[in-house]
Amino acid sequence: ELLLAVETSCDETSAAVVENGVTILSNVVSSQIETHKKFGGVVPEIASRKHVESMTRILEEAVREAGVELRELSAIAVTQGPGLVGSLLVGVIAAKSLAYALEIPLIGVHHIAGHIYANALVQELTYPLMALVASGGHTELVHVASEGEFRIIGRTRDDAVGEAYDKVARAMGLPYPGGPHVDKLASQADEEIVLPRAWLEDDSYDFSFSGLKSAVLAQVNQAKMKGDVVNRAGLALGFQRSTVDVLVTKAMRAVREFGSRQLLLCGGVAANRGLREALGEACAAAGVPLVVPPMSLCTDNAAMIAAAGHLKWKRGEFAGLGLKAEPLFSLEDWGAGTV
Ligand code: ATP
Ligand code: MG
Ligand code: FE
Repeated sequence: ELLLAVETSCDETSAAVVENGVTILSNVVSSQIETHKKFGGVVPEIASRKHVESMTRILEEAVREAGVELRELSAIAVTQGPGLVGSLLVGVIAAKSLAYALEIPLIGVHHIAGHIYANALVQELTYPLMALVASGGHTELVHVASEGEFRIIGRTRDDAVGEAYDKVARAMGLPYPGGPHVDKLASQADEEIVLPRAWLEDDSYDFSFSGLKSAVLAQVNQAKMKGDVVNRAGLALGFQRSTVDVLVTKAMRAVREFGSRQLLLCGGVAANRGLREALGEACAAAGVPLVVPPMSLCTDNAAMIAAAGHLKWKRGEFAGLGLKAEPLFSLEDWGAGTV
């Protein structure tokens, strides 16, 4: 089958054509980063306007690049949530219009299921598996017992890890989005400023990054007040080691407890070199295969939405034209077939 997918949950306008849930024929992504940079973060109102401006062109490009005709499409998959409501609505309306005009089914997709199933575009998945979702808005450990059967066993109680990266970067005067800059600085450090780790209760798979973030901000402010030079690289390394240590330790404990046959790294923070390296080593030691998507499939893109939409296609679970954008959307409910 040929799925056309649309993703507009945050600040990337994306459309993709994917065949049989695995072969990417096109995956066009238009990022708004340059626009939001000067504000130090995504401005929702501007994001939705930009989606409106780009949507048609991106859809046309995706179809043209794939070399297919609109009438050959089997269904349209669209990110239904979670995300910014104004942004989601643009993609949802575009997808509905196309599904209506072409008289083909519409599939609502959970954005995080997309991040997880980006890995299905890389290699075949074996269940049960564990997904470590680390993105700008989410930090979760998801036990996937079988295809599309999600159970969130741990989540952040405050900041998402990507969000903490962005806030720390901002305090250090680095550009938005800060994750890649902190990552780079950490690799250049010659000394680590050791920072605390939030382990929470012994048996908990939850995360907390706001205390760590505050520790960095306090050090930056202290140095500034004393008129000292801020050791940005040392702080970046300390921050990165703390986040990576907690993420890797909890993910590996979860893999052991749930007997996971694969560990999937998902979301924008999967681009982090420290995290990739440490997880790679831990998985090799545990004899568990680690699956990490290439950079282009880690951050928001529509091919991953097609990959997750493919699950619903196989089950024949389609949404009607009454499909609503869901800014707060439960992954577990979506997997269980509520569309
Ligand atoms: P969500 O998927 O939770 O709705 P989102 O779509 O905004 O959030 P993504 O696009 O998946 O998030 O990821 C963006 C985040 O990834 C940003 O916070 C960014 O700083 C972070 N990030 C990107 N590259 C790196 C890196 N090398 N190291 C750390 N963080 C990174
Ligand atoms: Mg983004
Ligand atoms: Fe995302």
